[in-house]
Amino acid sequence: MATGSQPPEAHPLAPASYRVRARRRETRDTVTLELRAPGGAAAPSWRPGQFNMLGLPGVGEVPISISGGSQDGRLLQHTIRAVGPVTSALAGLRPGGRVGLRGPFGSAWPLEQAAGRDLLVLAGGLGLVPLRPVLRAVAARRRLYGRVSLLYGARAPQDILFRGELAAWRRAGVAVEVAVDRAQPSWRGRVGVVTDLLAGVAPEPGRTDAWICGPEIMMRFSVRELQRLGLDRGGMRLHLSLERNMKCAIGQCGHCQLGPFFICKDGPVFPYDRIAPWLAVEEL
Ligand SMILES: Cc1cc2nc3c(=O)[nH]c(=O)nc-3n(C[C@H](O)[C@H](O)[C@H](O)COP(=O)(O)OP(=O)(O)OC[C@H]3O[C@@H](n4cnc5c(N)ncnc54)[C@H](O)[C@@H]3O)c2cc1C
Repeated sequence: MATGSQPPEAHPLAPASYRVRARRRETRDTVTLELRAPGGAAAPSWRPGQFNMLGLPGVGEVPISISGGSQDGRLLQHTIRAVGPVTSALAGLRPGGRVGLRGPFGSAWPLEQAAGRDLLVLAGGLGLVPLRPVLRAVAARRRLYGRVSLLYGARAPQDILFRGELAAWRRAGVAVEVAVDRAQPSWRGRVGVVTDLLAGVAPEPGRTDAWICGPEIMMRFSVRELQRLGLDRGGMRLHLSLERNMKCAIGQCGHCQLGPFFICKDGPVFPYDRIAPWLAVEEL
């Protein structure tokens, strides 16, 4: 119950009405919306890896990772790929439009735990979205970390997200490598899968934390490769962000259950050790 002059906490199922302040097209099917909290107030504080539920009346509500925010905490960014009815309607919003938002929900990438260590980030496709705030934070405080590498795989060159920021992270001292599944002859970069890029990094077991987000098959192959390199020794140093369809986001409806866990509140970011039995990497 609220006491004194503190505002009452919002009910976790009650959305607040955010306004679209800006919309940027990232690729042919993906946009980033910049959202302003009601009344220009500060949005609730959030940590890299967490997500909000974004909804439109009469259309539906879906989980979308927080891809960034403004320094003053008044703006939130969400990067949305139009794949179905709700994401298409969200991606079609224009500046001035309104969206229902509740959150933030879920676990975060363990940034404090990685300080002083090497950080290896593997992202596949839209998996770069929940890792973008990590890379921004690391690039801003680069001295706190050892070697930092981003290995990023996209379907094709035109699907590469945040191109300008990839360059900025490089300038800040992050080793950024990109591979695409398929490309026209004009593409000068790598063609292949994310795990092909590991050879160029040679991560050191014992001093590297590896964080992975992407399609489940990409994450399973990445874990297998990292295990082969010995990176899973020494406990909880591999983390993954999982996706499942979800409805309530507060661990009640059961839509996103994985074994004993609810992805919405125990995840989406998990230490690999906790979810290993359900990822079945050894069956690859
Ligand atoms: C924690 C979390 C964070 C997410 N972050 C983002 C984000 O930052 N940006 C973004 O664009 N999307 C994100 N998603 C995925 C997004 O929620 C789904 O794409 C969305 O729910 C699809 O709804 P729809 O009505 O548009 O399409 P639907 O008709 O519901 O689905 C279209 C297609 O996508 C598949 N699909 C739907 N939901 C998921 C899901 N959760 N995982 C895998 N496949 C799914 C369906 O099986 C179907 O093939 C996230 C999901 C989770 C669980």
